[in-house]
Amino acid sequence: MNGAQRRLLLVSACALVDADGRVLLAQRPTGKSLAGLWEFPGGKVEAGETPELALIRELEEELGIVTQVACLAPLTFASHSYDDFHLLMPLFICRRYEGQPQGREGQALKWVRPRDLRSYPMPPADEPLIAHLVDLL
Ligand code: C5P
Repeated sequence: MNGAQRRLLLVSACALVDADGRVLLAQRPTGKSLAGLWEFPGGKVEAGETPELALIRELEEELGIVTQVACLAPLTFASHSYDDFHLLMPLFICRRYEGQPQGREGQALKWVRPRDLRSYPMPPADEPLIAHLVDLL
């Protein structure tokens, strides 16, 4: 399948940063695509949503935390062709949120120092984002 034939999927992702400068990774649970890999939390942008509002919804659904558009700073985009779709994924940085993240969908969570992010196997779309985070944090 060439690039023009693939459908475009828009997913918003977040580097949640704690007071020590660590970043939250979530492990994709069994039964989902790319199960076992560690990703920046987030999810699909639904029709009618902005990337920020989709991310705020996903963070509440998946992690039980509440944040606001003003707390999301855009950093970069991932752009990666999977076999059956092309993923476009803005990555936001979020340092201010209410609540303590919990894996509400059974996913394991881990706070990771930026320089240790490469030790965690990630979906191929997420991997290039690490360099941007290491530069920033
Ligand atoms: O999380 P969800 O399964 O809805 O995401 C849709 C697709 O986007 C996944 O199958 C995966 O291929 C991709 N994805 C990714 N990195 C993320 C989140 C999703 O590559 N952080």
